[in-house]
Amino acid sequence: MVVTIDLNKRQHQILEIVKENGPITGEHIAERLNLTRATLRPDLAILTMAGFLDARPRVGYFYTGKTKTQLLTDNLKEIYVKDHQSVPVVVSESASVYDAICTIFLEDIGTLFVVDEASCLVGVLSRKDLLRAALGKQELSSIPVHIIMTRMPNITVCEKEDLLIDVATKLIDKQIDAVPIVKRKADGYEVIGRITKTNITKAFVALANEDL
Ligand code: ADP
Repeated sequence: MVVTIDLNKRQHQILEIVKENGPITGEHIAERLNLTRATLRPDLAILTMAGFLDARPRVGYFYTGKTKTQLLTDNLKEIYVKDHQSVPVVVSESASVYDAICTIFLEDIGTLFVVDEASCLVGVLSRKDLLRAALGKQELSSIPVHIIMTRMPNITVCEKEDLLIDVATKLIDKQIDAVPIVKRKADGYEVIGRITKTNITKAFVALANEDL
C-alpha cells in the first residue's frame, strides 16, 4: 500500500509516547492520552500502515525509527508496473514508415513496438527513428519499418511484476522514453503493455496525492 506521511496532532502525540515508552500496549497509550482504546484505533492503524510503528501481539507498539525518506523508499518499492501500464501499440515489421508515422499520430503516442507474424516482439520505433527516416529522399511508403527500427536482442523490456522504480532506472540508464511490458513465450516475447515516462510521472504525482 502506498501512503503519504501527513500526521495529525494526536498521531504525533502517540508517536512521542511510543518513542519514549515503547513497547507499549494500545491500552496504555490510551490511558496516557485520557482517551479510549477504541478512539485511538484508527490512529494506531494509520501509524502502523505508514510504517512509523510496528505492533507485536501481547507486547505492544514500538517505534520503527524509520525516517520519512526511508518510508518513501519503502513506498516506492511497492509500486508495480502492472498498476501503471498503458495499452501497447504495435505495428507489423512489414508496415511502412509512412504507416508507422500515421499510427503515431492516430494513437497519440511516442513509441511503437514492432512484431513479427507470430506476434513476437522484434523491434522498437521511436519518434526520432521515424523523423530520421523522413529526412531521407526515399518514398516513406516503400520503406518497411524493419529497416529502421531498433531490433532484438537490443530491446529493453520489463515484466508486469517488476517494480516501476526499476523501469524508471532503465529509462534513465538507456536514455529511452518507453519500454514494452512483455510475457515470455516459447519463441520470444509477447507484448502485453507499455510503460513510458508519462506513466512514471503519473505514478509520481499519484504517490504525492495519495491519502491514507
Ligand atoms: P526519441 O528517439 O523520440 O528520443 P527514445 O529516446 O525512446 O525516443 O529513443 C531513442 C532510441 O532508442 C531510438 O533509436 C529507439 O529506437 C531506441 N529505443 C527506444 N525504446 C527502446 C527500448 N525499449 N529498447 C531499446 N531501444 C529503444
